This record gives sequence, C-alpha cells and structure tokens, in this order.
Amino acid sequence: MEHELETLFEAQKIETLIMEGEQKLLQAPKRLKQMEGELLAVRQKIDKESEIIDELEKERRKKEKELEVEKDRIKKLEVKLCDVKTNKEYQALLKEIEAAKGANDRTEEDILVLMDKVEDLRKDYDSSSVHLEDLEKDSETERTVINKEIKSMDAIIAKLTQERDNLLSVVSENLRNIYGILREKRGGVAVTNIRNGVCQGCNMNIPPQLFIEVTKNKSLIQCPSCNRILFFREND
Ligand SMILES: [Zn+2]
Repeated sequence: MEHELETLFEAQKIETLIMEGEQKLLQAPKRLKQMEGELLAVRQKIDKESEIIDELEKERRKKEKELEVEKDRIKKLEVKLCDVKTNKEYQALLKEIEAAKGANDRTEEDILVLMDKVEDLRKDYDSSSVHLEDLEKDSETERTVINKEIKSMDAIIAKLTQERDNLLSVVSENLRNIYGILREKRGGVAVTNIRNGVCQGCNMNIPPQLFIEVTKNKSLIQCPSCNRILFFREND
C-alpha cells in the first residue's frame, strides 16, 4: 500500500504540472486577442487622424478657392472704379472693395491656422504610423513565440499525461477509481501532502491521532474535510 500511495502522490505531482500547462494553453489565445486589440486601437487612431487631416485639407482648399474668387471680384471692382460717374458711387465701391479685402485677410489667416493644424496633425500621424509599424513587428514576433509555446506545451502535456497514466496503471483499480473521482471533484487535486497537521489541499487541521496514522503512509486515509487522499512526505 505504501508503494501505491507513493505512486499516486507522484502521479498527482504530474497531474499538477499538466494542469499548469493547460492553464498556460488557455492563456495563449487571451494574449493573442489582447495583442490584436492593441493593434486595432492604434489602427483606429491612425484612421481618425487621417480623416481629420483630410477634412481640414478639404476646408483649406475650399477657403483658397473662395479667396481666389474674391480676389478676382476685387480686381473687377477696381476696374469698375475707373468707370463710375459720381463721387457717391465711387465711395460706395471703394467701401465694398475695402470690405472684401478685409474679408480676404481673415480668410488668409484662417488658411494659415488650418495649415498649422494640419502640420501638427501630420506629425502625430507620422509618429502613430511608426508606433504601429513597431507594434506590428513586435506582435508578429510575439505571435510566433506563442505558437511555438503552444506546440511545445502540447508535446509536454502529452508526455506528462503518458507518464501519469503509466503510474496510475500500476496501482489497484480501486485506488485508481478513487483518484479519478477525487480529481474530477476536487479541482484536479486528488492526493495531497500534510504539513504540521494541516491538509495542504483544504488547509484544515487533521486530528492528531489521524495525523500520526497518515505519517506512516501505510493505509488509505482521506482528509475528513475535503476527502482528498492524504500522503506524508517531509519537505515536499
Ligand atoms: Zn483536506
């Protein structure tokens, strides 16, 4: 029985490694998804920046066109100035020309402001683009690493599972069944060590008399609280 219990204890150790490996396998898609999320956020930021630049450029071109039209109009008004007959007409025309020139000055200022804004935004856009390029490269590297990890983890888990099954195959069917049931019901931990009279599976105290029995590793003893198979090994 002692040998069987020890075998179960070793099988449990491997079981724990398998669970850790499976946990890592579960994390891999999460890491990949998180990476995709980051990439998407930067791409969206860049798209937004580009969209704003386009809008401002469109507005600038519109204003430049307006300016051109107004300048033409002023030229025509100035030509007309030579043809007016009365002083009143002349003054009115002069006033109109001045007003148009004032409006043009403001439009020119608006155009300069738009150009400044676009220049700043282009800088942001450029640095975002560099950031995206770096991120894409890093993501590619990371993706390769993760896929390699998945592959090697799959192989490790397969090997560990084989080792565990080999160990379980040499214990009695009864013990193997108990182990299997507890493993299902107790989060993959069917066998647990006992330390200072405390079950390492559920952290409950074991009655002293029972503890003494467990340390002998002579018979199948289950924790009164969590039902796990108890095994004693010092410094483990
Ligand atoms: Zn317990």
